[in-house]
Amino acid sequence: MPVLLTVTTTARDTGPTPGPATDLGYLLHKHPERVQQFTQSFGTATVFYPEADDARCTAAVLLEIDPVRLARTRGRDSPDFSLGQYVNDRPYAASSLLGVAVADVFSTARAGRCAARQELADHPIPLEIRIPVLPCRGGPDIAHRLFEPLGWSVTALPVPLDPAFPEWGDSRYVDLTITGHLRLADALGQLHVLLPVLDEAKHYWQGTDEIDKLLRSGGDWLTTHPERELVARRYLARTTLTRAALARLAELDDGLEEGRDTGPDDVPAEVADPRRVPLAALRRDAVVRALLDVGAESVIDLGCGGGALLRALVGEHRFTRIAGVDVSSRSLEQAARVLRLESMSERQAERVTLFQGALTYEDQRLGGYDAAVLMEVVEHVDPSRLAALEHVVLGAAAPASVVVTTPNAEYNVRYEELTGMRHPDHRFEWTRAEFAAWCDRVAGAHGYTVELRGIGEPDETLGAPTQMGVFTRG
Ligand code: SAH
Repeated sequence: MPVLLTVTTTARDTGPTPGPATDLGYLLHKHPERVQQFTQSFGTATVFYPEADDARCTAAVLLEIDPVRLARTRGRDSPDFSLGQYVNDRPYAASSLLGVAVADVFSTARAGRCAARQELADHPIPLEIRIPVLPCRGGPDIAHRLFEPLGWSVTALPVPLDPAFPEWGDSRYVDLTITGHLRLADALGQLHVLLPVLDEAKHYWQGTDEIDKLLRSGGDWLTTHPERELVARRYLARTTLTRAALARLAELDDGLEEGRDTGPDDVPAEVADPRRVPLAALRRDAVVRALLDVGAESVIDLGCGGGALLRALVGEHRFTRIAGVDVSSRSLEQAARVLRLESMSERQAERVTLFQGALTYEDQRLGGYDAAVLMEVVEHVDPSRLAALEHVVLGAAAPASVVVTTPNAEYNVRYEELTGMRHPDHRFEWTRAEFAAWCDRVAGAHGYTVELRGIGEPDETLGAPTQMGVFTRG
């Protein structure tokens, strides 16, 4: 039962990384002149290049699924496993197994690493990915809805059940081609999540770490994807996991993605049911309120991420100067899009500055604002680097006010299916006592006083889901 996927790129004549198409071999860590085989638990993946010249280069992954090995590797308590579909699949059908194999065979490329051509791995390149026979529950429309918001042009042609008998209609397969200009690592990460989503037939037992896997692979594009519910629902076949994943995605971003304006007739969710306001929105509003309370007019958002807070700050006329800084250039690009910096009037755009920087190194650009915000950032910093961040923010930049938010670890037991921390990138999560002790210590060390508040509906014994410290100097 072979399954096929091809990745094609073309020569880059202009742009930041000009070069021949055969650079694909470096990016994928697979030599264009070799045929290589990789053993998977469920079969064998072969990588080869059907074409490799300067103008156009294609790598193919051919997966041969071994039904006996597949049957042997399935978990005993696997609830929805059905070997039948693989046995009955017509030849060349792709499946979620292909997603697993591609992720494994190209794991270095998926991580965005390329010792020989790092520049290239960091930049979008022209890509065409084709899967000639892809199981796609819901038909071609689903493929459009999943890939187009990520910047792909999609051609999804239904595959007839039997070309000799058109009256039999279409099969559940499509012939999918997606073309776009993306980082290869992003494309591979998206396929890893979306192939099983299209197939909607996950083949192995899902533990609670599946949510971590989904957040890790989809963290930076799934939060703002208009079909994120569909993705989470299909990726995590079990409903309790889906609910938990959606709660955690909403934690990271409240869905105020770019371009989605609320029309005049829309009733905001919070009006319809006040308890349904996502935590991310409550947190953003609490931070804005704290900044207004301390009378800040200029604000710097440290670790601004995709710009959710910046967008709210821009909407408040009291803030005359607003800056966002993040270590991740991709977050900054997203923030620029969310803020629609390009189409802002000159006067508006002058209020806003975005720049790349690390919060653990002294940087003059961080100074000169009335207030600084660290919203859901400290828990992403390695404990050994936290003292450096404290010094940079409260010691060196030393604004009159600093607003810090962070999860309340005690509240985590309220999240269904959550066994570890709320996000796989968190280095720690503090209890209320731990956060209070930290606030007291750093406030004392740098001449601030601090006031603690909870954000979100508090649990009587566990406290509120998010905790906030408002530091004021003097
Ligand atoms: N404040 C945003 C994003 C929180 S996620 C929000 O609440 O939505 C944490 C962010 O901190 C990420 O965007 C990450 O890139 C950034 N970050 C983590 N460590 C950093 C560091 N040392 N310097 C600068 N940014 C950092």
